[in-house]
Order: sequence, then structure tokens, then C-alpha cells
Amino acid sequence: MGEFELIERFFAKSAKRPDVVLGIGDDAALITPPENHQLVVTTDTLVEGIHFFADIPANALGHKSLAVNLSDLAAMGAEPRWATLAITLPSARMAWMEQFCEGFFELAEYYNVTLVGGDTTRGPLSLTITAHGVVPMGQALTRSHGQVGDWVYVTGLLGGSALGLKHLQGLQKLTNEQRDTLLNLHYYPQPRVLSGYGLRGVASSCIDISDGLLADLGHIAKASGCSAKIQVEQLPIHPVVKSLCSPEEAIALALCGGEDYELCFSVPEENKGALEVALSYSGVHYHCIGQLVAGDEPISLYQGKEDYHLGGAHSWDHFRSS
Ligand code: ADP
Ligand code: MG
Repeated sequence: MGEFELIERFFAKSAKRPDVVLGIGDDAALITPPENHQLVVTTDTLVEGIHFFADIPANALGHKSLAVNLSDLAAMGAEPRWATLAITLPSARMAWMEQFCEGFFELAEYYNVTLVGGDTTRGPLSLTITAHGVVPMGQALTRSHGQVGDWVYVTGLLGGSALGLKHLQGLQKLTNEQRDTLLNLHYYPQPRVLSGYGLRGVASSCIDISDGLLADLGHIAKASGCSAKIQVEQLPIHPVVKSLCSPEEAIALALCGGEDYELCFSVPEENKGALEVALSYSGVHYHCIGQLVAGDEPISLYQGKEDYHLGGAHSWDHFRSS
């Protein structure tokens, strides 16, 4: 099957939003963006051997490659609308492509995202997706407007995806049930799109957790010119992680594991009530884990009133290098 047959068979037939004037099939897509909105644009690449193992289910890869991009849009408070997909394949295997597209389009259709174009090439497996969203003028969430005194929150639970990865690396034994739970988190992250909308006008800053809470909250602290204080006993650690790891390991995974694709955000004291309303309709749980404070260190860790020291050199290095 040649390049054009591949495009025709797998990509060109996808559903089209009414604001897509021309989608796949011309030299470029033609889109009518809504008035009084700003475009929000993000790109992420996944490369075999770096971001995923060769034996990842194709369906999971299709889902995850789009999900990580939608997660970035969610962190900006944007409504996702359009995407492009540059795919490099070693060979055109039909069954693999079908499963990949199933995972990709299931998520795309759920959020009404239209695939408007892309590129198809031969080579080592890699995927680059650019996702485009819109946000009402001036309402995007950013990393830089956190203020000293704002409360720090995260959606969902932390550490599950990272423990799933450890299992794939042969470093963690799991029962079948635990394996299903953790690999589902690792392979099928759910971008917090509805939470992102809800946080507009409520959160003072926001980021999605891809590299790990410490690194990503560290970005908020740096960009906002303050420091973030985390109470480790308040971290919403995934129950499977809690049941399998020592308390120290569980905290390290929640702080440094990464790939949770939850949102981490700050909320001014006066918006705490509004937050409850804002997130109620997204159906996602959230937890307060600390506060923005004055200081030079991006992050300080506490357990109760005591300093908390993170064990394991590599975890701390990960934090430091951010
Ligand atoms: P050109 O040579 O003009 O860049 P291509 O032959 O690469 O165009 O692609 C033809 C059409 O198919 C274009 O509309 C392009 O956006 C689309 N396309 C190619 N690959 C993909 C893909 N992987 N996913 C979605 N659309 C694709
Ligand atoms: Mg062309």
C-alpha cells in the first residue's frame, strides 16, 4: 500500500467539524476560527524506544499520542478543535494501522477534534501531533500568574502511570488486576479537558503533569516568581501504588514519576468556593497539596510541620535538573 492509499484509507474519511472548510486532501487545511477567541497550539512527538516500547499496543499509541497533546491544551484552559498528525512508519501493516486509528479517533471524536492534515513517511516509528484549540480572548491559563498565598491543587491520583512503566521495565511485579489498572493509566491517560475549561477565571496558574509533579509545579513556581510548598501527606497517591510501595517510594513516585497527565494549578483564597463549582461538572476529583509561598527554591517539601527529604538520588536529580 502506497502513501496516498494509506492516507485515503485511514485518515481522509474522518468526521469533519463545520469550521473545517478544507481538511485532508489539499496542500493545507483551511479553517475558520471563531471570533473573539485566541488560537492555542501545541506539538508533542513520541519516538519508539524513547517514549514507548516497540510492543506498545497500537490502539494505546493512537490514544496516547493525541491525549498528551490534548492534555497541554487542557492546561491552557483551551477547547480542543483540530489536529495534524505526522507519522513515520517502518512499514504499512494494515492491522496495526487499523488499531492505531481506532485509539486515535475514539479520543478525537469524544472531544470533537478533527484531523485536518498531516504527513506520512517511511522510517523508524515516530509520531508528531500538533493540536489546535481555542480559548475566549484573554482567558487562557498560563504558568506565570500564581501569587504568594494561592493554594496548590492537583486533579486525580498520582504515581499509577509511573508504576505501570516500572512494571513494563521489569522492575515491579503485579497481579493481573493491578497490571490492568496501572497499564490502563499508563497507556490511556485521560486529558483533563473539562477541568481545564472550568478553571478559566478561577485558577491563577495551571500546568499538566507530564514530567512529574515536582518538575512541573517547579515550572509554575519559577514562572510565577515564587516557591511552592508541598505537604507530602496530602498527595493523592494511587491506591495500588500505596499498597505495593513503601511510603517513601510511593511519595517519590507521586512527586517524580511523571506521565500522570493530571492538572496542577494554583487558586487564590477568594476563589476556593468557585473552584468547587468549576470542577463539579467535570466529574474529576481534586486535592489541595500545598501553597505558593515566598522563596527562591522552586519547591519545598513538608510532612506536617517538618521538612521532608526525598530519598533516592535520581529523584532529586530529576527535580534539580528542572
Ligand atoms: P503535500 O505533498 O502537498 O504536502 P501530501 O501528499 O503529503 O501533501 O498529503 C496529502 C494530503 O493528505 C494533505 O492534505 C495532508 O495534510 C494529508 N495527510 C498526509 N498524511 C497524513 C496523516 N498522517 N494524517 C492526516 N492527514 C495526512
Ligand atoms: Mg503540497
